[in-house]
Amino acid sequence: MGVHDITYLLFSGNVEVVSDDELLAAINEAAQREQQIVDDQLRAGCDLIINKRGGSKCVVHRTTCASVAHYLDRRAEWLPNGWTVELLRREIRHGGFSPRMPQLATEDDLEEIPTYLSCQICKPDLKRQFKKSADSKTSDPNKLGEDRIGRRFVSPETPEPWTLVRIERTITAQGTTTVLYDENGSVPLSPGTRVRLLPKEPALG
Ligand SMILES: [Zn+2]
Repeated sequence: MGVHDITYLLFSGNVEVVSDDELLAAINEAAQREQQIVDDQLRAGCDLIINKRGGSKCVVHRTTCASVAHYLDRRAEWLPNGWTVELLRREIRHGGFSPRMPQLATEDDLEEIPTYLSCQICKPDLKRQFKKSADSKTSDPNKLGEDRIGRRFVSPETPEPWTLVRIERTITAQGTTTVLYDENGSVPLSPGTRVRLLPKEPALG
């Protein structure tokens, strides 16, 4: 029986047909394969881990954060310190065993997530520390950040999408006034209007 077949058994929960050696070989193989994926992503510049905790709440960490860094060591995840083959067999019998892979990301990848919070312990260096789901629908121009410059928007007062090139903000006792500019000048916006961010266009080539 090939190693791949044993790996399949690990997930199916049927572990009785393999010897201890075969079981350990299958685990080593799975850990190595996963380590390759993790290392490739780290090399590609992923420096964040998106951790989903119950429900849909995503928390964004640095890859060095103690609460998630352990996910990067795949062998230690598959074979935690002090574990025996017998313990492993018991886990597998109880419905299969496969430790969770980390979801590695770059800051750009966070655009694709409708909502997240950043970890308050490792405090990743992000332009936006959190994102609420409403942000992906429409935004209050007074709350638009400089990181949106260069992005395309639509608003009720303009027939065509426009590209944000500059934000001019005046803060007075009466409140905040924001003027948004595109290549042609100030963008007409009625008081209280909201703007809608368009998804990034795929890069050509
Ligand atoms: Zn963290």
